[in-house]
Amino acid sequence: MRKAILIALVAAVVVPAGIGAVTDGDSQKAAAARSATANPAASGTAAARPEIHKRLIPYPKKRKREMAAYSKRHYGAYKWRLRNPKLIVIHYAVAGSIGAIYNTFAPDNPDVEFGELPGVCSHYAVGGGGGIAKFVPPSIRCRHVVGLNHVAIGIEHVGFSDADILNRPAQLNASLGLTQWLRCRFGIPIDGVIGHNESLSSPYYKELDPRFKGQTHGDFNHASMEMYRADLRKLGSC
Ligand SMILES: [Zn+2]
Repeated sequence: MRKAILIALVAAVVVPAGIGAVTDGDSQKAAAARSATANPAASGTAAARPEIHKRLIPYPKKRKREMAAYSKRHYGAYKWRLRNPKLIVIHYAVAGSIGAIYNTFAPDNPDVEFGELPGVCSHYAVGGGGGIAKFVPPSIRCRHVVGLNHVAIGIEHVGFSDADILNRPAQLNASLGLTQWLRCRFGIPIDGVIGHNESLSSPYYKELDPRFKGQTHGDFNHASMEMYRADLRKLGSC
């Protein structure tokens, strides 16, 4: 996520602890679903769909129009649909629960960094216990990474640092299972799974607005993503 934005928003919202625990208690189910991904068949579409809890944020026509206008300004074409995603971008949310992340994304407010609409969001979030929530279908664009929202699915994580997620096996395994399923579904290679902090070096990076050019955030740097991708590789090819 946009780190600075979330720090500001999460601080402003003051979400009670535990409000978002809806999906965090499902690590066992998620683990069971994931175990099926450990031995992908040689045929190709092997990754099993993990247990995903639908918790869609409001995304009415107004927000779609705003997303299309954002895309026009930043990528050159008026579009809100995400077709043929090329990347999966990994974030941490600077938030302590999926509920806190949901509460940041649901209201369609201008972001605090640039004052633009639509409000920021990600497609999925992974809780500290391994529960997975779906906020937005991956067929719709979300604002989660400057320069790549026209090609990228975003996955947020409950946590406050890369190490938080990398050191929580239930959360990391759920994340890997979700990423593997998504990348196999959309034909995204492992090097198309990047950290937010790696955004500027992506070959898909495009930014027309000089105010936004060169902007990235610190979440999931290259060293952390080398570990994440190494673990992802262990799940096998699609
Ligand atoms: Zn981020």
